[in-house]
Amino acid sequence: MTLVNLKTILEKARRGGYAVGAFNVIDLTFLEAILDAAQKQNSPVILNIAEVHFPFLTLENIVPAAVMLAGRLPVETVLNLDHGLTIEAIHRAVDLGFTSVMFDGSHLDFAENVHQTREVVRYCRPRGVSVEAELGAVGGEEGGGLVGSADPERYTDAGQAREFVRKTGIDALAVAIGNSHGKYKGAPHLDFERLADIREAAGLPLVLHGGSGLSAEDFRRAVLLGIVKINFFTGMSQAAIRTAQDCLQQGDERYNDYPAMVRSVRNAVGAVVEEQMILFGSAGQG
Ligand SMILES: [Zn+2]
Repeated sequence: MTLVNLKTILEKARRGGYAVGAFNVIDLTFLEAILDAAQKQNSPVILNIAEVHFPFLTLENIVPAAVMLAGRLPVETVLNLDHGLTIEAIHRAVDLGFTSVMFDGSHLDFAENVHQTREVVRYCRPRGVSVEAELGAVGGEEGGGLVGSADPERYTDAGQAREFVRKTGIDALAVAIGNSHGKYKGAPHLDFERLADIREAAGLPLVLHGGSGLSAEDFRRAVLLGIVKINFFTGMSQAAIRTAQDCLQQGDERYNDYPAMVRSVRNAVGAVVEEQMILFGSAGQG
């Protein structure tokens, strides 16, 4: 199918009572793993390409591959810029064919976040591209690997969320309710009461970043309270590294068999993605 925008896919998720996973593409191996998983699970899927990963890939190479491979799938796919930090990155992504962008103004003060997010919406809307923005700040560092913890001082405020949505015209809002990028320091505790308040105040699709490390019960409750997109990357990165380590330790005949290692990594990453699609309830919804 041709790519669709985020608004389209999330509206269906809201009606169907499930969330769609947004999985990060860092190379062709991850791209194939994610799309294979979507096909096997008959699940809609969001391909995330994060601005922090731009140094590791060439957008002009990976985007045409993503568009072509997604076009062959029977399920709906979104190509989303994950954590766009600058207006320049947003323009570059939209011009290359992304169908959705996340603008991350969480480091800005409220007024400036509103101002810049509104500029992004003004650029994207006439081009049919959806916009996700962040209010409050998700813990940890985007990009995975580092241990993250959320700062309650920077959780999303429901009253501000209402004002932010009204002033910016965004399509989806990323919330900070105790979720964190990278590995969680200790057991994660999500503030579900706050999530319910934000849902009531914001009245639009909500997004949970930092999906790796949360429990099946966390996901179930989050989806019931309005989460329709869940970002997930660290768990894929960990599966890839673990698999590569296993392959390298596997005796003489496999030693240095790089193609076999890449294939094993792809299969391991695909298995993790499939697991999430089942947990998020998007499996079978393609
Ligand atoms: Zn994120």
